[in-house]
Amino acid sequence: MNLYRHGNHLYAMSREVPRQQAPGIYRKQIGDVILTTLVDGSETFSFDIFSQSISTEDARGLLVAANLPPTPSMPVNAYLLQSEAQTILIDTGDANCMGSGGRLQEALAAAQVEASDIDAVLLTHAHPDHVGGLVDLTGSRLFPNAELILHIDELRFWQDAQNFVGAPHLNEVRSLACKVFDAYQTSIRTATDGEVRPGIALQHLPGHTPGHSGYWIESGEHRALIWGDIVHWPDIQIPRPDVTLTFDFNPAQMVQTRKLLLQQVTDNRILVGGMHLNFPGFIRVHRNDGGYQVQEERWLPDMLPVL
Ligand SMILES: [Zn+2]
Repeated sequence: MNLYRHGNHLYAMSREVPRQQAPGIYRKQIGDVILTTLVDGSETFSFDIFSQSISTEDARGLLVAANLPPTPSMPVNAYLLQSEAQTILIDTGDANCMGSGGRLQEALAAAQVEASDIDAVLLTHAHPDHVGGLVDLTGSRLFPNAELILHIDELRFWQDAQNFVGAPHLNEVRSLACKVFDAYQTSIRTATDGEVRPGIALQHLPGHTPGHSGYWIESGEHRALIWGDIVHWPDIQIPRPDVTLTFDFNPAQMVQTRKLLLQQVTDNRILVGGMHLNFPGFIRVHRNDGGYQVQEERWLPDMLPVL
């Protein structure tokens, strides 16, 4: 047994200490709907990810100024939407296939929701950190009663092998997306802009992937937007919306989409959730000297209605 001496006392070092965060969930009330952030984990990259759209020095400076680690590490979230009529998941985390994720089921358990309760999974897009949690290691579906809803361009893009000729680095990414589509073959519903479930409307936000989409949640006078991967590092890409990533499918289109949406959510003071926002997973965007500035939601003990 290891012993630790402090002054005249000896302490037996036999206690277990936690090695990771407790499950992360955070609830917001949007009218009659409860919208919950579910933390799946995190992923860490090198600064090469920014494909020279920002210098390493500038990117690191923005992270450090925001009190974040000086490396591009990002959280991965999914969102749960609960009303008296339906239980919906938006994205499903990465099932530990990319970083230290795969904690979606733990977060769902903390929210006291069973996989069989989920009526639909809405996808923002089909990258591994969004679809990984839909299937288990054998490729079987984990949400037996859920329909799978995504933009039609997203499904077509990943299913067409012609799009990946000469891109062997995307083989694994595509193979996971296709495995998921196979598992949910009988339950896939494709969509375009507009209402996809009661009170939930899809907005096509292409660029990061061809069918990348956000979801507007409306209940009475209240609303919020889950914007998917409009930013991966809010402290970098909100003040610098021109910063793109190596895995943006169409970087120029991504920047255009991001700029339009930033304007939209700022003008209307929209509460925004996103798959790579820091916990508790909600922000508002403000104007700042002709640019934009992110304001993160504070963790509040009460579930106050969003105005
Ligand atoms: Zn992502």
